Order: sequence, then structure tokens, then C-alpha cells
Amino acid sequence: MSQPAFKSAPSGRTRVRKYTVWSLDVWGHGPDECDEHKCDCMIADGEHDDGACECHWDVNDRCRVGEIEVTEQGTLHNVGTPHQFESFSATDTEIIEALLPEYLRGAAENFEIDDPSCDGFSLYVNLISGEPLLELESVSGDAFLNRGG
Ligand SMILES: [Zn+2]
Ligand SMILES: [Zn+2]
Repeated sequence: MSQPAFKSAPSGRTRVRKYTVWSLDVWGHGPDECDEHKCDCMIADGEHDDGACECHWDVNDRCRVGEIEVTEQGTLHNVGTPHQFESFSATDTEIIEALLPEYLRGAAENFEIDDPSCDGFSLYVNLISGEPLLELESVSGDAFLNRGG
């Protein structure tokens, strides 16, 4: 961070990324529901044995429910060097807020974004407990709209 040759800075440009929104049909449960399901991973005194737990959610099916647009902020990397490039990204909160109130109910703090491939192209929106609610699929790069710059 202290190396001036590899500074990052906001580019001042934005890009709109479109996502297809899928509603997920989920089977199973997470560790916080093992008590009520009386799973084998519950120890006698009501304690949960995290090491023994094999409970998780499985996505059984999905249903296309719509589209959202997320505005991504541009960042310049390696500013002032021959390797300067620009990337665009939105924060998890910005993505969640784009889904409120049409696809999610409640406050933004109740949800989290899971980006298994770390590329922003296929995201899961989970409850804080880890239960998957929605899947977001980025529409192809051709659909990106450049605004400003
Ligand atoms: Zn369980
Ligand atoms: Zn469990």
C-alpha cells in the first residue's frame, strides 16, 4: 500500500452490470437448526458438535424471477505505470440493496453475498444463517453499459 508505483484510485467511471435473478428451492438445513431436527450431531446437553455435523443446504431447483442492474464503481490500478488498468466492482451491500425490496424482504444486514468463483459472474444471496435464497447470474459482458468517462 505504501508503494506509490502501485497505487489504486477511483476512476470516477461507473458501469452497469445486469444480473438474472433466480429464486432457489432449497433442501436441508444448517447447523443452527440441528437442534429442532434432532440430528445426530447434537450432544446430549443441547450442545452442537460442529465436527460431527454433516448438515447443509442443497439447491434442489431454481426459478427465474427477474433481472436487476447493479452500478459498479471503477477503480484504476497501478496508477501512472504502463500496467495501469481499470476494474469495476460493487460492494455486497450495493448488490443486496439492488434486490430490495422486490426480491428480498427485510434489512440489508439480514443477507450476505457468496461469490464461490470470486469473479462476480455467479453469486448467491444467502441469509446470514447461510441458507441460500437467490442466485444471480451476470448477463454476458456485451450487455455492460459504460456511463461517463
Ligand atoms: Zn442437522
Ligand atoms: Zn449439525
